Amino acid sequence: MNQKKEKDERPPFMGLSQYDVRGLFENINTPAYVIDEAMLHKNGRILKGIQERTGCKILLAQKAFSNYDVYGMLGKYLAGTEASGLYEARLGAEEMPEGEVHVFCGAYREDEFVELLKYADHIVFNSPAQLKKFGQRAKEAGKSVGIRINPEHSTGGEHEIYDPCAKGSRLGTTKEQWEKYITPELIGLLDGIHFHTLCEQDSDALEETLTAVEEKFGTYLKQMKWVNFGGGHHITRPGYGIERLEQCISKIQKRYQVEVYLEPGEAVALNAGYLVTEILDVVENGETTNLIIDASAACHMPDVIEMPYLPPLYGTKEEGEGKEYRIGGPTCLAGDIVGDYCLGESLVPGDRLIFGDMAIYTMCKNNTFNGMPLPSICLLKENGDIEELVCFQYEEFKRRLGTKRKI
Ligand SMILES: *Cc1c(COP(=O)(O)O)cnc(C)c1O
Repeated sequence: MNQKKEKDERPPFMGLSQYDVRGLFENINTPAYVIDEAMLHKNGRILKGIQERTGCKILLAQKAFSNYDVYGMLGKYLAGTEASGLYEARLGAEEMPEGEVHVFCGAYREDEFVELLKYADHIVFNSPAQLKKFGQRAKEAGKSVGIRINPEHSTGGEHEIYDPCAKGSRLGTTKEQWEKYITPELIGLLDGIHFHTLCEQDSDALEETLTAVEEKFGTYLKQMKWVNFGGGHHITRPGYGIERLEQCISKIQKRYQVEVYLEPGEAVALNAGYLVTEILDVVENGETTNLIIDASAACHMPDVIEMPYLPPLYGTKEEGEGKEYRIGGPTCLAGDIVGDYCLGESLVPGDRLIFGDMAIYTMCKNNTFNGMPLPSICLLKENGDIEELVCFQYEEFKRRLGTKRKI
């Protein structure tokens, strides 16, 4: 990036503060995601500390981050993986084999369930009907069986699409449904209770949620071996209330004699990745200076549009201290806009831009809309070396759109 010597010390770029950033990414082809190994270690140490002090177990929710090349090192800090279904369960079992494999899925398929039993240690069901359909088989296969509850208590997370407690939500069994359909026989199958209601939230939201969980499901908690607090705990964000989290964990462990699990995704790889892009063109239309880059919000950082949010960009200036740009992708989608940024100098094609906090919900969520190439994935090692983990070619795009066979 064509910028002055000063460092960007914001949390998304903490990992870069020891480097001459311009030189660091010089040799990689853009667009590329770069995973920051040192930041993963940093997050890992925080998560490990919580487990050591409380005796809880923390899992990686793979839907946020499933770059299995680093599972070996993450396995030193975590108790295992959490999966959203068969594929992630298999990935966790294959790539973090020493860890536990937990799975929650909104609904399991009959034809996948037998294979799932090979990989999963804990299987969590979303509804009484799913528990009834599969619970006995899971139990007979020696699995720990759980049900996801819905405490029907929203904690004011900012984004409604991430609120499983929204009215009418399909996610989790409400108290009313539990009392209607969870027979003593079904309770007999249960080892644990799972809830997941938070998104990028602090431990005060967890505390509030636990009050609702205890109020509605406390009598059942006493009969369980474990409680899984789900994800959405923004534990590794600077300023997160770790002490309160640990109090919450200890309280539930003591009161109900249960093992406590947490399964954050974001927190494991928060601020541990970048998306390195290049400016292709500068388009001045009306008041707006558009920078067209070789990455796309819609394809490569889909949460920017889905959530939506403004991703951090290295070297951003305070408003009024530089020039305003609107950054967008090369696709035909008018709304393929990353956002508006104030940057220091007049930028030109060939300059590089580095987006921060790009490890989570990016590589496992991207797509090839418009025939956009997928960014390669690199690893910035602790010693400053950069390794390419994978790169993608035309074939990757084509194969997913048709490989004819007779059925
Ligand atoms: C999404 C999800 C997680 C991880 O959430 P983060 O916000 O990434 O921490 C954990 N458990 C379940 C069931 C989830 O759906």
